[in-house]
Amino acid sequence: MKLLENKVALVTGASRGIGEAIAVKFAENGAAIAFTYLSSDEKAKALEERLTAMGVKAKGYKSDAGDFKAAEQLATDVMKEFGTIDICVNNAGISKDNLLLRLTPEQWDDVMQANLKSVYNLTKQVMRPMMKSRAGSIINLSSVVGVKGNGGQSAYAASKAGIIGFTKSVAQEIGSRNIRCNAIAPGFIETDMTHYLKDGGAEKWFEKIPLGRFGKTEDVANAALFLASDMSLYVTGQVISVCGGMSM
Ligand code: NAP
Repeated sequence: MKLLENKVALVTGASRGIGEAIAVKFAENGAAIAFTYLSSDEKAKALEERLTAMGVKAKGYKSDAGDFKAAEQLATDVMKEFGTIDICVNNAGISKDNLLLRLTPEQWDDVMQANLKSVYNLTKQVMRPMMKSRAGSIINLSSVVGVKGNGGQSAYAASKAGIIGFTKSVAQEIGSRNIRCNAIAPGFIETDMTHYLKDGGAEKWFEKIPLGRFGKTEDVANAALFLASDMSLYVTGQVISVCGGMSM
């Protein structure tokens, strides 16, 4: 028996990076996968085909995570197609880094909408089907930067710290319905989002990471698998750091 057999997972922002790795890991473990993306049509189509070839039901939805109405429509469409939602991974996110002196109101709003409002938008939608089935796991992607802060990333850090407060509050609200809500705080993981860190040499960053390397998307996907599966049935309201020890 695979860890996620007979489960339906909804993963946002899975056309690339960490979301893609989570979708693949969940499919390997038997879950049917509904996933979203914003603009990478070809990558989304390729992922849908890859997951389907792995023997699970899979469908990609073009849906802006920051848009409340789009989240409502997404949940309706996924329920119609898949019948239920057992696992929701709020992964979609962006970074717009700037020193506060230069950070524009538009940059602040964009980051908050894509990273924090998005988590509110979809969590609100998936709660109902989860309450009906009296089970569910919600996993929100925070960041080591939301735990520690980082100069030049005040908007991003605030959005990711907000996710932690949201996660712990929601866990308290819905624990009695057997729905769990946890966050993952990755460190620097090798994706498009962190590509720029390698400019000027990755080695200088390694000094700040006890394990001495950037993380791989699969490192985060493994933690997501634990939180999605019955291996973590007594775990809620927690922030699991997957950061090579950076948050110590
Ligand atoms: P990434 O490689 O830049 O991929 C971002 C994904 O999110 C893409 O699939 C993108 O879709 C999607 N997306 C972006 N905005 C969206 C929106 N408004 N609606 C729907 N989908 C949207 O990012 P990543 O590095 O994998 O990061 C994934 C998550 O982990 C983010 O929340 C990020 O903040 C968090 N995180 C990452 C790191 C890291 O080191 N990489 C560290 C800590 C936390 P398109 O392809 O269509 O644009």
